[in-house]
Amino acid sequence: MLEDKFGRRFHYLRLSITDVCNFSCEYCLPDGYQCDSKRNFLTVPEITRITSAFAQLGTSKIRITGGEPSLRKDLVEIIRLCVNTPGIEHVALTTNGYRLPEHIDAWAEAGLHSINVSIDSLDPRMFHRITGADKLDTILKGIDRAIELGLKVKVNGVLMRQYNANDVNTFLDWIKDKPITFRLIELMQTGDNATLFGKQHVAGEPIKQRLLENGWALQPKAFNAGPAQEFSHPDYLGQVGLIMPYSKDFCATCNRLRISATGKLHLCLFADHGLDIRSFIHSNNDYELEHQLESLLGDKQATHWLDQGYTGGTKHLAMLGG
Ligand code: SAM
Ligand code: SF4
Repeated sequence: MLEDKFGRRFHYLRLSITDVCNFSCEYCLPDGYQCDSKRNFLTVPEITRITSAFAQLGTSKIRITGGEPSLRKDLVEIIRLCVNTPGIEHVALTTNGYRLPEHIDAWAEAGLHSINVSIDSLDPRMFHRITGADKLDTILKGIDRAIELGLKVKVNGVLMRQYNANDVNTFLDWIKDKPITFRLIELMQTGDNATLFGKQHVAGEPIKQRLLENGWALQPKAFNAGPAQEFSHPDYLGQVGLIMPYSKDFCATCNRLRISATGKLHLCLFADHGLDIRSFIHSNNDYELEHQLESLLGDKQATHWLDQGYTGGTKHLAMLGG
């Protein structure tokens, strides 16, 4: 099992398969995707090698992410290979959902277990303003279909003071009769968004207090759960998750590692740089990649320094998948 010097175990891999995106979210790619050099994204055989090496080392959950992963034509093949990797029990996908109704049946058929869809506002005009895409209705239809197909659905909303911070109740009303976990994510500072961060960051803690005052109860965490604090309420079918990366001890339960779309291992979302593992993928020695992963993990730090404005090498989260 992959374990670091602080005793944290890594059973969750976030695998980015592209850094290209077709949205221009204010906090991520406000000027849209800028291609400054030719990208050489991981191929299907490389992804197969990576997923089986991680599975050998105890990883049981893979999240496919991006950029926008559904822009890759071979996404169905990638989902299927992850699902078919011995040892992998859960395959999830994070997507902006721009063509969700067209794609979701094929993804479910390939064995996908769950999706996270990003929706920062349920008001179509505000959604358009934040993302640059007039796609809310399509995405909502796709979510209904995903629920029909039996997929677990989470919706991510990034909290921003002047955009959606007053809309929390609208989201709560929406999940009253829907089996959706709605996750409020505190805006994170990245290399590119310092000005926006300064104006728009809203802390999640007061929202947590309001939820508790209004009958929401904090749920115990599953062993392979992410950093979200999850809440349920007897009158609501849906659940609420709060992701508060600036809170004390956020990193203490870190259970994930990240691979970038160009084959770099990132020990933290805010690490200075990724560690190239591509040469080990192609080694003839079956155990070399596993061995390297174990040894590279030795450099994982106890925590990030986001609260001091240190964002490492991460210019925006499309680089790595959030
Ligand atoms: N394009 C896909 C999407 O938007 O769902 C997957 C990649 S996106 C980088 C993954 C998640 O990161 C999204 O839920 C997005 O809202 C979130 N995200 C991006 N930049 C962020 C930031 N600066 N702070 C907090 N969350 C952010
Ligand atoms: Fe694209 Fe996702 Fe970033 Fe929005 S958050 S720009 S959809 S990668």
